[in-house]
Amino acid sequence: MKPHKRSLAALSELFGAMRSASTPSGRSLSMSLGLRNILPLAASAFLMIATTQPAVALELLQPSETSSTVTASAVNLLGKADKDASVTVNGEAAKVFSTGIFVMDQVPLKEGSNSFEVVETKAGTAASTVTLTVTREQPAPSIDLTKSKKLLFVKGSFEPSSDLVLQSGEVLPLAVRATSGHTVIAQVAGQWVALEEQRDLESKKLTGEYRANFMVPTITEDVDTTSVQFTLTAASGVEGPSELVETSPAKVGFWSTNQVRLMRVTSDWASVAYGIHEVRLGGPFMGELSSGTIVLATGKKGSSVRVRLANTLDGWISEGDLEVASAATAIPYLTFTSISVGGGTEGDVVSIPYGSPVPFIVSSDQPTSAPPTITVEFFGGHHAATWLSHSATASLVREVTVEQHLRDRVCVKIELAQDRLWGYKVEVTPSMVRIRVRKAPVIANVSSPLSGLLIALEPGHGGPRNLGAVGATRIPEKEINRMTVEALKAELEAAGARTVIVREGDDDPNLGERTSRAIASDADLFISVHANSAGSARGYLRVSGTSTYYKHSASRDLSAAIHRHLLQETGLGDFGNVGSFNYGPIRANTWMPSMLVEHAFMSNPEDEAKMLDPEFRKKTARGVRLGIEEFLRQ
Ligand SMILES: [Zn+2]
Repeated sequence: MKPHKRSLAALSELFGAMRSASTPSGRSLSMSLGLRNILPLAASAFLMIATTQPAVALELLQPSETSSTVTASAVNLLGKADKDASVTVNGEAAKVFSTGIFVMDQVPLKEGSNSFEVVETKAGTAASTVTLTVTREQPAPSIDLTKSKKLLFVKGSFEPSSDLVLQSGEVLPLAVRATSGHTVIAQVAGQWVALEEQRDLESKKLTGEYRANFMVPTITEDVDTTSVQFTLTAASGVEGPSELVETSPAKVGFWSTNQVRLMRVTSDWASVAYGIHEVRLGGPFMGELSSGTIVLATGKKGSSVRVRLANTLDGWISEGDLEVASAATAIPYLTFTSISVGGGTEGDVVSIPYGSPVPFIVSSDQPTSAPPTITVEFFGGHHAATWLSHSATASLVREVTVEQHLRDRVCVKIELAQDRLWGYKVEVTPSMVRIRVRKAPVIANVSSPLSGLLIALEPGHGGPRNLGAVGATRIPEKEINRMTVEALKAELEAAGARTVIVREGDDDPNLGERTSRAIASDADLFISVHANSAGSARGYLRVSGTSTYYKHSASRDLSAAIHRHLLQETGLGDFGNVGSFNYGPIRANTWMPSMLVEHAFMSNPEDEAKMLDPEFRKKTARGVRLGIEEFLRQ
């Protein structure tokens, strides 16, 4: 294993690794926050409507066509008018915001043709009118599998739905929805399996859902991945063909258990997830592994490799972060007899001998009624520590202990002497894992706690492609975030702080680079500023409010204090203080308390109008500043 550190340079690679490891669906981290639920406002959707007089421009944004057909029972109307005009829809007043955006949510539709006259009036100018027709149709009837006279498979109902590699003895669930009352068999890597049609538990009637649990047989050689072939054969007379064959989009292969499959981690900060989940910002993360770590692979799903960290714990790593190691590679196993704790100018250093590249995961906890802890869990090894040396220079760490509750999991627990964990860093060398525990900044003046502190600020998104959400006025979130960060910078500096902005102008450094810059600056706190977005299917004004986010519990109190003050200052609704949030820069930056603000919703035209108002941005900045000050005084 070549010497390396989880250095700042290495950090910039973290996010590529995180992206691939955490999102087997292929969703990228950098896109997840910003591009979700962008309002459907493609440029082509903007339609200038001919008005009776050109004096006042009335634009209809959604629906974007003056004639449309839907199956929904209501329609949401969104458009742009003069900000001083009033807008009515069939005589009823629509809400018009200071941006000129008007909204009328959930206008009921009767079946057939619905006509809406949208009228904009402004003193001194002629009214302009748009007539809109929305036709409500019955939704297409869904196919009743129990009544169909033809053989058919339901599209998208095939299981497995993603590529898999399994080992002998594992169970592969097979399923498909198809015409009821017939026979379905599947061919999996050359083996035939009969599926059984399921009955409704209450009515006992057949449902058209066919299932089987296939157990991977003992094999001596690996079987390459191939598609699963499903065959539906008619039991009695049907219209059309009496047999239907389709292959599943996903492929399945088998690994023989006669082989030891060792793999080597090739990138620093290779993310390990507990399972494969298609959730926002990736899966549930266990932590990161360092390059050179040796792991035992036991299967694959999509582009993720399942590794056995311990007999009782599997993890999932992106295959892009791994290379095949020779089967003769030494299987790592760790024992160490001593740990030392010493003090320094930045804080304390805990040094743990690391003579064998076993996987290990670092986590932290800051409970409300117990001292904070940092835990380093090693997989593969046993407790052999007999000499835990605490130097008198150590001022932050009260005690280091070693525990082993399970056969191959050795846990080093670092308990702090103080109430708050400010931050920590992990360094790995060929012979040592070092945990650097950071001293809290000195608050010289309690009435002005921000004096002299350095605050790292991140305006979310940036650049020509990473716009974030886009509002009804077509302003991108990156711009709102940049303007809010400017207000926040002024507010914090007026309170005596210094600031460092990790994304200047319209730059778009990747998330790893943003994190590296924050850590390299040695800032005392990290604040990421974003604006939220929600789907508009049930109305543009339905979802609103302010919310804050943190990943690690050591950042909870900061995030909660900012949340409380933002609600007070902005008067916005409460969208929550959200923990366990995976946004890269607040997840990877453990060197300082780190949190993210989603001050209001881009998708809500009322919130958008507020965020475009400099006075409102000052209130947001004040809320964040007061929250930080409360946290610093705690
Ligand atoms: Zn965002």
